[in-house]
Amino acid sequence: MAAQTDQNSKQVTSQWVRETAPVLAHTAGGRDWYVLTLQSPQVAARALPGQFVQIAVPTGTAGAPIDDPLLRRPLSLCTIEPAADRIRVIYRVVGRGTALLSAAVVGQRLDVLGPLGRSFPDPSLQGGALLLIGGGLGIPPLACAGAWAAAAGRSVTAVLGARHAGDLAGIAQVQATGVPVHVLTEDGGAGRRGRVTDGLEQRLRHTAEVWACGPEPMLAAIQSACLHAGTPCWLSMERPMACGFGVCAGCSVPKAADDGYLKACVDGPVFAANVVRLMAANAAPAQSATTTD
Ligand SMILES: Cc1cc2nc3c(=O)[nH]c(=O)nc-3n(C[C@H](O)[C@H](O)[C@H](O)COP(=O)(O)OP(=O)(O)OC[C@H]3O[C@@H](n4cnc5c(N)ncnc54)[C@H](O)[C@@H]3O)c2cc1C
Repeated sequence: MAAQTDQNSKQVTSQWVRETAPVLAHTAGGRDWYVLTLQSPQVAARALPGQFVQIAVPTGTAGAPIDDPLLRRPLSLCTIEPAADRIRVIYRVVGRGTALLSAAVVGQRLDVLGPLGRSFPDPSLQGGALLLIGGGLGIPPLACAGAWAAAAGRSVTAVLGARHAGDLAGIAQVQATGVPVHVLTEDGGAGRRGRVTDGLEQRLRHTAEVWACGPEPMLAAIQSACLHAGTPCWLSMERPMACGFGVCAGCSVPKAADDGYLKACVDGPVFAANVVRLMAANAAPAQSATTTD
């Protein structure tokens, strides 16, 4: 496997490949999200939790140019099964690209680039209890992350939440790993009523490390609590992204020290909590640099 561990961060990067991947299964999971399973032996052999793939969106309308939409769509790996040559992603339909992707049928071949980005840190290089925190579409990548950490002998617990029960995308895949899962929803429709950050300070007393993925205000709250408690924390950030391999700089993330930017595609998407500056819930939204199709 062409993978490399960064000694400073303990994260893994891989040599990415371009692969034509047949759709093995594609099902609606909830109101507006889908579970897509692909036969992708080369990506499955190289990928580690926290990394993502860039999928070329199948063209929609008859007569449309074959490169429309032009940009691939980045999706995190939810499950990675090298022995079965399979990868799985879970995605929400938010715009044109994901709407077109949702029409892909079993047997159709998708153009996949990956694995891209840096993984979560190698769980075998650190001991102690690991807390996974996922919100909404941030839950799916924690399935393979939890399985990886549990296989490395770590004690793993997951706290997963969403606004409504129907938004708990990927929760079945996390539960399938055997990791104990605590569920919260804002409307109380599943699990306890509340947010994943409720009682976090108390949880951190029994936690050696946190891995989190979800909306930025949620990540900002987790970052703040972990920095305050001195608990090592890794955040997976889903920035709008064009190329996926460090060329376009569309996915810039401000550095914590305010001395420049990192790129979510090659420096992340998983970042140590102390290196990035996040936008808290009450902060004004920054303007995106570019928006292209
Ligand atoms: C690393 C990563 C992992 C992700 N994992 C998941 C996942 O597992 N599940 C999930 O549901 N979603 C995930 N997302 C979000 C998902 O990629 C978007 O929801 C999806 O790309 C939207 O595509 P669309 O065509 O439907 O939306 P639209 O809004 O119609 O199109 C968005 C298009 O504009 C581009 N764009 C917008 N802003 C910028 C910018 N600043 N610079 C460059 N290009 C820009 C986008 O790249 C894309 O091509 C992830 C994002 C990233 C970066």
